[in-house]
Amino acid sequence: MIAGAVPAGRAAACGIDERGRAAGWELDRPSLLSAPVIDFELEPELKELRERVARFVQEVAIPAEPRDVSTHGTPDALRAELQEEAKRWGIFGPQLSEELGGLGLDHRGTAVILEECGYSLLGPQALNCAAPDEGNLHMLDVIASPAQRERYLVPLAAGDIRSCFSMTEPAPGAGSDPTMLRTTARRIDGGWSISGRKWFITGAEGAAFTICMAVAEDAGATMFLVDTDNPGWRIERILDVTDRAFPGGHAEVVFEDCEVGDDAVLGRVGEGFSYAQVRLAPARLTHCERWLGAARRAHDFALDYVAGREAFGQPLGELGMVQEKLARSLIDIETARLLIWRCAWALDRGESAKHESSVAKAFVAEAVNRVVDNAVQVCGATGVSGEGPLARLIDETRPFRIYDGPTETHLWSIARRQLRARAARATGLAAGS
Ligand SMILES: Cc1cc2nc3c(=O)[nH]c(=O)nc-3n(C[C@H](O)[C@H](O)[C@H](O)COP(=O)(O)OP(=O)(O)OC[C@H]3O[C@@H](n4cnc5c(N)ncnc54)[C@H](O)[C@@H]3O)c2cc1C
Repeated sequence: MIAGAVPAGRAAACGIDERGRAAGWELDRPSLLSAPVIDFELEPELKELRERVARFVQEVAIPAEPRDVSTHGTPDALRAELQEEAKRWGIFGPQLSEELGGLGLDHRGTAVILEECGYSLLGPQALNCAAPDEGNLHMLDVIASPAQRERYLVPLAAGDIRSCFSMTEPAPGAGSDPTMLRTTARRIDGGWSISGRKWFITGAEGAAFTICMAVAEDAGATMFLVDTDNPGWRIERILDVTDRAFPGGHAEVVFEDCEVGDDAVLGRVGEGFSYAQVRLAPARLTHCERWLGAARRAHDFALDYVAGREAFGQPLGELGMVQEKLARSLIDIETARLLIWRCAWALDRGESAKHESSVAKAFVAEAVNRVVDNAVQVCGATGVSGEGPLARLIDETRPFRIYDGPTETHLWSIARRQLRARAARATGLAAGS
């Protein structure tokens, strides 16, 4: 898929400059044309897998949706049943390595499959590629020690347990600004004692362990693996949030003299923020992928509605203002997909994709919400009712503009990056003059 893209090393070897022009391109056009730099064709195996996932969504996930009625997240029993079914269909763990029982797709293949399974809110649960486990799986795969892999990663990848990620704190702690972290880890004999309060922790209820970000004594931000049966951990309450697709909902949790051994440190002490980057870009992107699938579902529902419903002597779909919404929504869907694929491509090249994931997250979160809102509007009262998926999708997609960095923080960092680059160019020019 997206085959034919020139890898970074090869690009340099071909003499392609940062604007994508070949050195001496006026003379060398034929060879460039014979090797396309961008190709959106998907490999036959990936197409087949995408079709299988689409069938699974239609035949298994969507029919199970009426059973997904809990206020604070999909019931674990339903999730387990769907995961068994996904294993039978050969579509479980698309993003996981084959060693971990997954399909071993790269980021680009994952983008295609996560979009497809996101068409139903139950799809990502079934395939074990839903947040927050999916982000934790990726981070553990990259950072965990062999013993941690065995204890946490292997059962998480199999879907036998769930996990959560504890970062956000009530004021005056860390929210949009992670450097405001207040949770501490004090050195004790043979380990650490963690104290602090976190909230909006997705999936805490029912999780077997959490990855907790805390400020380690004399070292700074550090990630710890904490078992949820640790007597120093407790769930204070489950918060009411507009969404209800995540098993366990979102909780406020307390770490109170929560003692863990040295072997609970994930990676190295003091490296918490750099490890957070490992999780950040891919986890942002997979959110974009799943929610793009949900936006497509909303759009398809709207198309059916406006084609079948008449007003003023014609189908709604013949009215210009309705058509404008349909057109704008499709442009949002297609642009979102392109930004996702570009970011996936950068990740597959081994880049951090910090910029690409930020651009994708900022655009896709807003675009998905626009698409869902357009669908609601053209469906009239049906759009805000239980007579279809739309009312639920508004509630599910709205928080996406806030978590994984509110849109404003992404816009802020995208702008600052441009200004820094401009300043560096200006300094370079001045030095060279
Ligand atoms: C459904 C849901 C699930 C979540 N799951 C988890 C989880 O599993 N684990 C976890 O640790 N956290 C989780 N969170 C928390 C999430 O990461 C935070 O909500 C997010 O980081 C923002 O922090 P905050 O809510 O404290 O907002 P604040 O920091 O209080 O910011 C409020 C608003 O201020 C504005 N703002 C902030 N910075 C800027 C800026 N630089 N420029 C302009 N405007 C700005 C934005 O509009 C922002 O929404 C979840 C949140 C939600 C809603």
